Amino acid sequence: MAIEVTRTFVGSIQNHQQVCDGLDSLGDSASKIWNVARWTADRVWDEIGKIPDEGTLKSYMKNQSCWKDLNAQSSQEVIEELSDAFQSWFDLRHKDEKANPPGYRKHGDKRPRSTVTFKANGFKHDPENNRVRLSKGSNLKESWSDFILSEYQTRPDVDLSKVNKVQNVRAVWNGDEWELHFVCKVDLETNDSAGDGVAGIDFGIKNIATVAFPDEYVLYPGNLLKQDKHYFTQAEYDTEGENGPSEKLMWARRKLADRETHFYHVLTDAIITECVERNVGTLAVSWPEDMRESDWGKTGNKKLHTWAFDRIYQYLEYKGEICGVEVLKENEWNTSKTCSRCGDNTKSNRIERGLYVCSSCKLVANADCNGAENMRQKITPSPHGEDRSNGCVVVRETLSLVITKIEDFRTTQPSVHLFDRESGTFNTREQVVS
Ligand SMILES: [Zn+2]
Repeated sequence: MAIEVTRTFVGSIQNHQQVCDGLDSLGDSASKIWNVARWTADRVWDEIGKIPDEGTLKSYMKNQSCWKDLNAQSSQEVIEELSDAFQSWFDLRHKDEKANPPGYRKHGDKRPRSTVTFKANGFKHDPENNRVRLSKGSNLKESWSDFILSEYQTRPDVDLSKVNKVQNVRAVWNGDEWELHFVCKVDLETNDSAGDGVAGIDFGIKNIATVAFPDEYVLYPGNLLKQDKHYFTQAEYDTEGENGPSEKLMWARRKLADRETHFYHVLTDAIITECVERNVGTLAVSWPEDMRESDWGKTGNKKLHTWAFDRIYQYLEYKGEICGVEVLKENEWNTSKTCSRCGDNTKSNRIERGLYVCSSCKLVANADCNGAENMRQKITPSPHGEDRSNGCVVVRETLSLVITKIEDFRTTQPSVHLFDRESGTFNTREQVVS
């Protein structure tokens, strides 16, 4: 079976000399639109104490002269990016009071070259001749040309005439020159189901993911993310200037975002691979209800994809689809409070220092494992504590590293797969048994 997925292919520009002035002025315009919208957001904020949402910003910006420097869809995209940046800041501010709002795009006396996105009516693609026309806004049109004709070359194994559809084209300044990013819909062959097994997964802060496989629990700590956040946050404070974020700070943020993305990819690759190897064809993902309800989510436009957990979920979903692992989003309602062995969910059950303690059956288990196990049982309801004898696993913290089984019917213990910087993969960590 084939499924349709989104892929981005990079093309290097063959006639760079001819088009770079044109692209420079579009990139400069995108920065200007960003700055005017950013300034507007500040004024509205001062007036009414809240950041204007995307729609309000767009309708205000449409009356600004700079709006027509770009194709209307390209201008709108800039506002959407700014709204996203504000949303990320809200998300971050929730956890870190010192987080900075999105800044202005300044580069000394000049504006930097922003990425320009051309949507459906902003480009005409000619894949047979490796050419694409990128449209300018009416302000920048000259008598003889209202578009930039760019010749490009992709990697030899990429053929853009074979994709289902080119959704949009982005002109990106890579630091040395402009390049084109083609965002495409392509068909991917998928595998049949990886098996009858069911696994459950629980997201958390310390263990970014805990997976209950049919035969084992695996913890994936967010060790890399934590170290990175610390390092980059420090770098940010060190470089914060009087006029807002410096270029180094912008670099640090981009770098952090890249590394986070990379981490999520490696994490989700590792989980899906484990599923396939263990014949798990269904993976139940916990979906914390309260994440959607938070107050600050109501300000501005709610963009769930800015959430780390949502990104992990999305990666799991599309990677799972390719490998025959169905990924189901389940509400987390009560999964952290319920005992995975006896099903008891009374208030006297508690979580202490990462351990779940059941007052009924006296289970003491790693709280994340308990949550993941409950997710698993949502799909494979097994009489609590019977055939599966999950008993979870009693764990103790040893040198800040989880582990150790004491009373368990299972033969296996949870293992911790730590992210290894050198290899860039998750490694199985030796288990610490006391
Ligand atoms: Zn219990």
